[in-house]
Amino acid sequence: MKLQVAGFLDNSTVNGKGLRSALFLSGCKHNCEGCHNKAMQAFDYGERVEVDDILERIKHNVPLINGVTFSGGEPFEQAKQLATLAKKVRDEGLNLWCYTGYTFEQILQSGDEHKLELLKYIDVLVDGKFQKDLTEGSCKYAGSKNQRVIDVKESVNSNNIIEINKE
Ligand code: SF4
Repeated sequence: MKLQVAGFLDNSTVNGKGLRSALFLSGCKHNCEGCHNKAMQAFDYGERVEVDDILERIKHNVPLINGVTFSGGEPFEQAKQLATLAKKVRDEGLNLWCYTGYTFEQILQSGDEHKLELLKYIDVLVDGKFQKDLTEGSCKYAGSKNQRVIDVKESVNSNNIIEINKE
């Protein structure tokens, strides 16, 4: 099973809390004005990589890293294959963040079994399209103020949007 990958960072401090490996997935339809990853919008950008090869690369960074982040592009466009990787990442005891242009509610209401499966493995979801007129005052984990840094488990359990402590 392969993913179309735009890039990979072994150790990053700017893609979520702590030191993390970051996987960038190709392909995005959101077309946000001011998109900073325009090349990654193409679904054939980058290379096709086996899920297990990505996992091996992630494992090389353990125990240095405390988690993994999926970003893009739009990770949820490859939800089926990415859910497989997400499960393996969680099985390694790593926490998982994911950036998406969809809102949490859109994913929940999509009725798409693969998107819902992927969401199940994510600890923190940074959601919503990038809005270049809302960059001022955004938190360190989000590009624009409309984007929320959501504790997925807490939000599902309480049927409410619960954001993480961003300190
Ligand atoms: S969701 Fe991200 S990659 Fe997609 S258009 Fe918006 S900023 Fe660009």
